[in-house]
Amino acid sequence: MLTKLLSRCTCAECQQCCIFDSYDIWNTPVLVPEIRNKIRQILPEMEFISTGTESYLFKIHTEAESFSCPLLSTEQGCLLGEEKPFDCQIFPLRMMHLDSSIVIAVSPLCDAVMQHSMKTLLNFLKQELAETLFAYAEQHPDVIHVYDPFYPVLLWKPQKF
Ligand code: SF4
Repeated sequence: MLTKLLSRCTCAECQQCCIFDSYDIWNTPVLVPEIRNKIRQILPEMEFISTGTESYLFKIHTEAESFSCPLLSTEQGCLLGEEKPFDCQIFPLRMMHLDSSIVIAVSPLCDAVMQHSMKTLLNFLKQELAETLFAYAEQHPDVIHVYDPFYPVLLWKPQKF
């Protein structure tokens, strides 16, 4: 979704967004039932935690300070290929709740995207992606994360109740 901002090569060489701190499990991708079912075909032993009416997170068993996503292969990259979870498709963007709005925020951890000016990111979103992201988030509210003040907000939309 973000190839105009972030080349596939850059992502393939980096993979930082597939590695998580152990205190940061909320940042692992939200898995809707279809994605969870695909993962079960690839990793039959994988366990999940239910986090909403129709969403899951990986159940991670580790004592380490950080861990890689169970789907990250050093040779092949993401084992889901083009069918990644929504969170991964839009990273470093994140859908978040802020007050009574849904916001599109950006993770400052992605050096490649943060090289663009905020104006460029905003124009890209307005012209290419914002409507799609807001529509998906409204249909799948479990992908909306709690706001983290570490993430600059690019766009917001009042939430429908
Ligand atoms: S699902 Fe794929 S893209 Fe997403 S964190 Fe895991 S390995 Fe990375």
